[in-house]
Amino acid sequence: QHDVHIIGGGLAGSEAAWQLASRGFRVRLSEMRGSGETTAAHHTDGLAELVCSNSFRSDDDEKNAVGLLHYEMRQLDSLIMRAGEKARVPAGSALAVDRDVFSAEVENALRDHPNVEIVRERIDTLPTEGLTIVATGPLTAASLAESIGAATGSESLAFFDAIAPIVHHDTIDMSICWMQSRWDKRSGPGSEGKDYINCPMNKEEYLAFHQGLLDAEKSEFKEWEKDTPYFDGCMPIEVMAERGVDTLRYGPMKPVGLDDPRTATPEFPQGRWPYAVVQLRQDNKLGTLWNMVGFQTKMKYGAQVELFRTIPGLQNAEFARLGGLHRNTFLNSPLLLDRQLRLKSASNIRFAGQITGCEGYVESSAIGLLTGLMAAAELAGQSYTAPPATTAMGALLSHITGDAEAESYQPMNVNFGLFPPMHDVKKKQRKEAYTSRAKQDFSVWQSNLRSVAA
Ligand code: FAD
Repeated sequence: QHDVHIIGGGLAGSEAAWQLASRGFRVRLSEMRGSGETTAAHHTDGLAELVCSNSFRSDDDEKNAVGLLHYEMRQLDSLIMRAGEKARVPAGSALAVDRDVFSAEVENALRDHPNVEIVRERIDTLPTEGLTIVATGPLTAASLAESIGAATGSESLAFFDAIAPIVHHDTIDMSICWMQSRWDKRSGPGSEGKDYINCPMNKEEYLAFHQGLLDAEKSEFKEWEKDTPYFDGCMPIEVMAERGVDTLRYGPMKPVGLDDPRTATPEFPQGRWPYAVVQLRQDNKLGTLWNMVGFQTKMKYGAQVELFRTIPGLQNAEFARLGGLHRNTFLNSPLLLDRQLRLKSASNIRFAGQITGCEGYVESSAIGLLTGLMAAAELAGQSYTAPPATTAMGALLSHITGDAEAESYQPMNVNFGLFPPMHDVKKKQRKEAYTSRAKQDFSVWQSNLRSVAA
């Protein structure tokens, strides 16, 4: 017996389940992993598995839109943010987590909750009745995707996300690399501003590496995948390399603010910036695994190992996971969903997470949180007011449910470009102005949020 059926125990589904269960509603959470099924990107059966980077990006809630989203989710007792805090690993001003600790925290909280029943099963068709939240993510199983396609009458779009490789720490040559955050930025109390491992390259090494990226053997596109555009935030490194010889030096291989101690002289006691740098970020709490920041790739595995071992310091690197390429599935939400994320043609079905066309762990979780609140209000027979568009949650929701152009709808990270503009504020102060307005409006919205309980 349940009040809401949630399909998909990823980030959005887990958060929605938590919000509903906390308000006394009974949830059936169907997750296909653990029933002999998996996706092309998941590696475990754990709920809320992070499939690529271990970062929730910036935790700065004064100047950054995703940091602001963290703040708003914390105000609403988000399970994802709670678990993120418990699993936190050092990462400068970003919130990065140990992915196994994180997933276990989410799963334990839901498993221990008396209102949640976790069922390991694959759902193949959209339920025709009963309140349902579909949170099956970018890698929705084919049968359900077909059923969604049939119900929406429109074709799903597809594009690619690419995974960055992960290296075993004890195979990195620390006599060549050094630890430093860019500009020595500290991640919090106790931090020394040394969160990243940096691999330096001189000009000759960089140019050879760049050429290597151009020449490397890549995975073939399938016929139906050929015209699919990349999403900028997850562009493969070799595609960036194709854009120009210096593109990477202004992107993931940027050397500014990183002083190579091996080049120290009396004049420059801290050392000089190299020509280019490859950065690695801690990927698990133990510090045994490190991911290559911004190195998503569709190069073939053999080519990856060969080329990445030419990076100074990684000449003996062993890879815990190589980079890869995967499909993404999302709805044309502005066309298909109402303002409460319900399918216009079947109002018992809500969508949550990346399948709605938001992009990223945090954004998907935030939309999951909102669907939980919406479904709770509906069950309690109350009206629901969405957070104002001046808040990060409201801006994201507005984008998905109507503000974006349906014709050119593409997945979107939260950013200040989605917020109602503040032209009257000087450019330099605008980010702070956005966040302080958001916090104020969020607080008013939250205090008017009627408490809902089963
Ligand atoms: P998911 O977390 O994927 O959860 C969906 C769940 O539904 C899964 O557990 C799946 O097993 C289950 N499921 C699917 N179909 C069914 C079915 N029919 N029945 C039952 N269960 C089902 N975001 C970032 O922020 N940073 C990154 O670095 C990043 N890299 C990515 C790399 C790849 C290859 C991919 C595919 C995505 C990446 N993303 C990244 C996006 C990220 O995966 C999503 O933002 C986030 O996980 C979406 O959350 P979700 O809850 O919508 O989906």
